[in-house]
Amino acid sequence: MLSHAPRFDAATAARVARDLYGRSGTVRALTSERDQNFLLETTSGERLVLKIANALEDPAMLDAQQAAMRHISATLDLAPRVIPSIEGPTLSVVDQHRVWAVSHLPGTPLGLRRRRSPALLSSLGAEIGALTTAFRGFDHPAIHRDFYWDLARGRAIVAQYRSLIDDPELGAAIDTLMARFDREAAPLLGDLPCSAIHGDLNDFNVLVDGDRVSGFVDFGDMVFGYTVGDLAIAAAYVMLDADDPVAVLSAMVSGYQSRRPLSETELAVVFPLATLRLCTSACVAAHQQRERPDNAYLGISQAAIRRTLPRLARIPLLASARIVAWLARQTFAPIMDLPSREWLDLSVGSSASDGMDGITGGIGRWDEPRLIYTAPFFAGRTIHLGIDLFAAAGTPVHAPLRGQVHAFADNAQAQDYGPVVILRHETDDGTPFYTLYGHLSRESLHGLKVGHQVAAGDRIGSLGTIEENGHWAPHLHLQLIVDLLGMGTDFPGVGTAAQRDVWRTLSPDPSILAGLAPAPGEVTKTETLAERHKLIGGNLSIAYADPLKIVRGRQQYLYDDVGRQYLDAYNNVPHVGHAHPRVVKAAAEQMAILNTNTRYLSDRLTEYAERLVGTLPAPLRVCYILNSASEANELALRLVRASTGRRDMIVLEAAYHGNTTSLIDLSPYKHLGPGGTGTPAWVHVAPLPDDYRGLYRRHDAACGTKYALHVAELAESHQVAGYIAETCPSVGGQIMLPPGYLPNAYAAVRAAGGLCIADEVQTGLGRIGTHFWAFEAHNVVPDVVVMGKPLGNGHPLAAVVTTREIADAFDNGMEFFSTFGGNTVSCTVGLAVLDVLRDERLQEHARRVGDRLLEGLRPMIDRYPLVGDVRGSGLFLGVELVRDRQTLEPAAAEASTVVNMMREDGILLGTDGPHHNVIKIRPPMPFDLSDADRLVGGLAQCFESLLP
Ligand code: PMP
Repeated sequence: MLSHAPRFDAATAARVARDLYGRSGTVRALTSERDQNFLLETTSGERLVLKIANALEDPAMLDAQQAAMRHISATLDLAPRVIPSIEGPTLSVVDQHRVWAVSHLPGTPLGLRRRRSPALLSSLGAEIGALTTAFRGFDHPAIHRDFYWDLARGRAIVAQYRSLIDDPELGAAIDTLMARFDREAAPLLGDLPCSAIHGDLNDFNVLVDGDRVSGFVDFGDMVFGYTVGDLAIAAAYVMLDADDPVAVLSAMVSGYQSRRPLSETELAVVFPLATLRLCTSACVAAHQQRERPDNAYLGISQAAIRRTLPRLARIPLLASARIVAWLARQTFAPIMDLPSREWLDLSVGSSASDGMDGITGGIGRWDEPRLIYTAPFFAGRTIHLGIDLFAAAGTPVHAPLRGQVHAFADNAQAQDYGPVVILRHETDDGTPFYTLYGHLSRESLHGLKVGHQVAAGDRIGSLGTIEENGHWAPHLHLQLIVDLLGMGTDFPGVGTAAQRDVWRTLSPDPSILAGLAPAPGEVTKTETLAERHKLIGGNLSIAYADPLKIVRGRQQYLYDDVGRQYLDAYNNVPHVGHAHPRVVKAAAEQMAILNTNTRYLSDRLTEYAERLVGTLPAPLRVCYILNSASEANELALRLVRASTGRRDMIVLEAAYHGNTTSLIDLSPYKHLGPGGTGTPAWVHVAPLPDDYRGLYRRHDAACGTKYALHVAELAESHQVAGYIAETCPSVGGQIMLPPGYLPNAYAAVRAAGGLCIADEVQTGLGRIGTHFWAFEAHNVVPDVVVMGKPLGNGHPLAAVVTTREIADAFDNGMEFFSTFGGNTVSCTVGLAVLDVLRDERLQEHARRVGDRLLEGLRPMIDRYPLVGDVRGSGLFLGVELVRDRQTLEPAAAEASTVVNMMREDGILLGTDGPHHNVIKIRPPMPFDLSDADRLVGGLAQCFESLLP
């Protein structure tokens, strides 16, 4: 068949385009299996596709395609338009091949898009619904054909070629799926409406643009078949390699229903027909492989089909719905006496998420994400698939309904089921299902026999003790199972969050068996987002287009609402690690004793001030404790103004110092950004000493001094109270000030009568590894040091330290008071943070891990054109992305893509810099060497995938 494929070269195609269609321009061959397609781009920018048909193509089918495109285009803008030749006809013959032309649709094939957002899947469903609707009223004799790929023939083709499948796992999956198809879908097929359909909406025949479908192409497989076929076929290909095929299916189906409601029968067959399509494809491929073993093209989607079919075989969608519906009509014998029927919260964000120890009553929830499953065999699974009925060890357990003993075992390893029994049941129509009873006593297994009949209410055992039940507080794990998937007593009691929908289908809510109404559901991420939009100011921005709902932190990790762990490479506020137990304990204990303000004497306040001052060089000896860095910078501003009697300030380009009115004035990043009202007269902006893309660059040994001259000029020409700068400008793009800059800038400001403020909010407390405060690396001593973010490890705590002289000048009779600043709890927290920092040697750790990161990141400059610069010190690093090494055109979109890809791989980063093209690495300090390697490996993969 393939030998009849046309063999036009580009020059011939160009000639045909000119002679037949009167168009000339550039011609490029597109890939096609049977035919030849050329993309023609005319000088006026028009794009069309020249199609040279295979010599064997049925002319009637070509006519049908053109008629269908015309029919669809009348109501829907997603199909190519047929373009007539100069002479009028839409079909011509050149060298025995039929030639025609259609408009070129924008977009890229869905098949090239690895990440498919829910919005895209829903748009896909909706547009297929629109296509089905647009087909309405269309018919053509040629599509009433006995066609290989017609879903109506699929079952027979699988039967014919199934024996050619060598891979036993694939074969078994096909058998399971086809048995299910015969049982559940085949009886419904006769009731399905039929009509003209596209017939091959595989993901290379669907074009997408952003999150929207932009076109459907290649109507050569049209057939008069099941109307729902286009949805089923498209779903089949999109489910390939999807993390959660059921979620894919449901997004597509709900999108589809927004345009064309499905009947119950159609709804029931979408999934079985989709699996049929994939089984057909696998069988046809096996057949073709036999015929032509060396034709690689035939295998194109087979690897994905081989990976996916066994997973799809584990999703008994229809059986699950039938069993749940049947159970809803039954009554059940009581399973056990319950001391309490209260629902417990063991979810990721609950205080009980460390374990069940000490729980003696209540019910643990089904479908609840939990972090308590830490044994290696859980392999990161978090979603609880049963309910937990807590009661004393020895409490008798009874069967809620009739059944027979299917399996039992003592899964003795820690955190496993311990002694476990599985009963088999059947619905009235003979659909089998199972109930699982875990954490029983060993005595429960004595005398049990597989096949033994059990009546509703029969005692099947008793609750085990902690020692015998897998080391859990005594409780019954009760789980409903639709299909054991051949796993018997090893059937998991906890599933993966990525396949939560599949697990819900396999193990539906068993609450009804225990006489319980379903537990109240959690607040979903979508609900939280909607509430936030309603209740919280709109300009409190949210990270990521698909926001994260983080409910727990531990060390350098954050956990979302489904228990997914993220490596936090971004947050510097939880300096010594999220929820550090020593800090938590110190805060909790002090909260329980006293929390009051600085109007009373407190050793906590003076002790903390003494410890802070002890980290700083003389003459920085006087301390103010506050709640936020904004409050601290405000005070710093007042200090230098009081001391100099002047008002004006010098600040760096792109700087941010806080959210108050004066600090917005002092922050060009804000007042020159969106919504800003410009730089006020009292603020003088000095160039950002960015030695990568700034005014002076690092190849110039004097670049630091040259930047400082700008500060000198401003200081001399204005009566400035002071100069403020972050020692490593962060929103400026993780900038490392060039050598010579700070000493010269400070000297010039002081010579002009001003004072120097170091904003160490981002960089202090050992983050840069080499020094405790970043200014120390520049051999300067500021007049005022501002500290914030990391001081309280998340507790609102900030500080200002200055000289006695400046403090005295500020002490002019007006009282200074901050209600919360320096309160007993805050000082206690601050002390605990300093203790942890010292005892865990985190500054030294930051240096070591930072060096490892730099070692891994720096070579990327040579490897990936996108990586323009890698800079920083310790755990304060930036990777600047550029599109062009000469012009340094910022690669902001790419930086954002990388950050999003990394998030999908479970690593949190951010972007910064005036051009948003700097990837910011600024993790909690416990971030370790293996985290560094993981981060470097992840970034390398992202850059690799973005190579041109
Ligand atoms: N200074 C710098 C350098 C900062 O990065 C920030 C916060 N991003 C602030 C001051 C203000 O801190 P806060 O939000 O605690 O007021």
